[in-house]
Amino acid sequence: MFHLLLSACLAAEPATCAERLLPAPEARTEAACRADAAAKIDRWLAAHPGLVGGASRCARTDDLPRLSLKEITPGVWVHEGRPALPDRRNRGEIANLGVVIGAAGIAVIDAGASRAEAEALFAAIRTLSDLPIRAVILTHMHPDHSFGAELFREAGAEILGSPKLSAGIEARAAAWMESYPPQVGREALLGTRVALPDRGLRDETLDLGGATLHLQAVATAHTDNDLTVLHVQSGTLFTGDLVFNGLLPTLDGSLNGWLDWLRGTRPEVTRIVPGHGPAPLPWPDGSAATLRYLEHLRTTIRAAIAAGEPMSKAIRESDPEEAARWQGYETSHPRNASAAYAELEWE
Ligand SMILES: [Zn+2]
Repeated sequence: MFHLLLSACLAAEPATCAERLLPAPEARTEAACRADAAAKIDRWLAAHPGLVGGASRCARTDDLPRLSLKEITPGVWVHEGRPALPDRRNRGEIANLGVVIGAAGIAVIDAGASRAEAEALFAAIRTLSDLPIRAVILTHMHPDHSFGAELFREAGAEILGSPKLSAGIEARAAAWMESYPPQVGREALLGTRVALPDRGLRDETLDLGGATLHLQAVATAHTDNDLTVLHVQSGTLFTGDLVFNGLLPTLDGSLNGWLDWLRGTRPEVTRIVPGHGPAPLPWPDGSAATLRYLEHLRTTIRAAIAAGEPMSKAIRESDPEEAARWQGYETSHPRNASAAYAELEWE
């Protein structure tokens, strides 16, 4: 396969440039890739105001930058993000991403933190299979999982998520587009546009040909728009951020709801792919650290509220044992404590 690459720069900041991949239509030969390049570039730039196009070229799949993927069970692949908070060094590429390849098509689970990361995931997928990418399934709204979605839509995929995903992204998109570029770097996000899902779903099965995915929306937990994806044949559950491994869980939904989900019995699940950190993990043991931290958070915040402590004091208390176990504790724990306090003070 040959892929069209375009050098693009920010119109307002012409020294900030990056090469973007325009994924469709894909071409078997370099000549076919070049044939409609000009029209394709014009269309893409028209849809991405604020960018100026420069030189373009056609490259083979093997010559593209690509993410590492490991096969955890036949047909199911995982890219492990860096278990850290988003910064300029990791370009926000911290979430785990999944790929399931059946006999009739491909599904992507979470799209990455930027168009650039999604392009590198797309290139990695194309070294494995030329089948159509039917769906990109977003486990929830957070930018490290969702910002790459538009690339897959351009490649022909339908963007799927919880029925509440669209509203969740819409409410926060403007704030994210302000706060995220300085955090991870403008170049890392060049060409990235927030994409809303094409469809929300509560409970649905996706047949990729010998690979069946069961998509299930979850009651408010990590966020109000979490969705899990079960690869039925292997019992592998993509939990999104309902489970963290190594990086401290972040609470943006309901602590009580999250603990209820974690305590659920799931006989159909044998292993999980957490939203962050090394994967896969056994189920349920792989969720024990997340469960323990969140239970501890609930116990300590309930005790603080019962003792009449104000929120400002409760969020400054930290537990050295938990702090030593998790990346990002110093930054995320006070936010979790504040969210937990706001939820639990009304009990
Ligand atoms: Zn998240």
